[in-house]
Amino acid sequence: TWDENGKIWMNGELVDWKDANIHVLSHVVHYGSSVFEGIRSYEIDGKGHVFRLEEHIQRLFDSGKIYRIDIPYSKKELIKATKDTIKENNLTECYIRPIVYRGYGVAGVDPTGSPIDVAIAVWKWGKYLGEEGISKGVDIGVSTWRRMAPNTLPSLAKAGANYMNAQLAKLEAVENGYNECIMLDTQGFIGEGSGENLFMIKDETIYTPPLSSSILKGLTRDAIIKIAKNLNYEVVEDKIPRESIYIADELFFTGTAAEVTPIRSVDKIQVGSGTRGPITEKIQNEFFKIVEGKSKDKYGWLSPVEE
Ligand code: PMP
Repeated sequence: TWDENGKIWMNGELVDWKDANIHVLSHVVHYGSSVFEGIRSYEIDGKGHVFRLEEHIQRLFDSGKIYRIDIPYSKKELIKATKDTIKENNLTECYIRPIVYRGYGVAGVDPTGSPIDVAIAVWKWGKYLGEEGISKGVDIGVSTWRRMAPNTLPSLAKAGANYMNAQLAKLEAVENGYNECIMLDTQGFIGEGSGENLFMIKDETIYTPPLSSSILKGLTRDAIIKIAKNLNYEVVEDKIPRESIYIADELFFTGTAAEVTPIRSVDKIQVGSGTRGPITEKIQNEFFKIVEGKSKDKYGWLSPVEE
């Protein structure tokens, strides 16, 4: 939920929520020219702790580099700006949305000469796929929409325009009564959800699609791979045939918004026992123990808002 009395960081200043506006002729409005991040801060001992802040800001710069969007701040400045914005809004637990976009300046597709603007907004956000989803699992369908083909819209960039593809898939999923969907890559292998990576468990081995399946390189995905390996599971990054998710023992989504959300059915076919599976629960517990400060942050994933 948004707090419209809050402040938004815009090009170096904290401005009133209602004043954080852009011109209708900004390049981004017409051509989707933005790169952004989604980050979460967790409350531990009454204080905010941002999950993998440095890596998220690095991914923002990587997305910018792919699109030749030269961010006019340093990583350090944006890390500080993120923490300042959280503090200014008196938040501890929140969702953080840094966005870099081509602003008001030129009319055509060629962005040369348009300014690069940067904003950071923060707000309170609960469980993206529902509290019940976290414990019991969600129902999803395979989308009729595919992920972008390689070398069309680059999936490793977290760019605004990619989410036109995600919206088509999400709208269809909701229309069909599902919480979320899974999109296949152009070859028909498993890709990812509209805003989540996917993991599959079969015979105690954990599988997740490779970057070549047109996925975003999720930071939660990376965290879960590390947690799973630390729990001595074998993790295989390889192309996943569509039908293998119907006969999987367990499935779950990962993402900043979705955290670790089990999947209990796909296309109305029950997955495993039809509820959160035991390995999913084990991995989920490890993840939540870290972000809730109940176990040591041994991977160094949490960055305190107040130093
Ligand atoms: N895939 C897509 C398309 C996403 O939008 C997201 C959310 N950023 C993810 C995967 C998960 O990435 P992360 O764990 O870094 O949030």
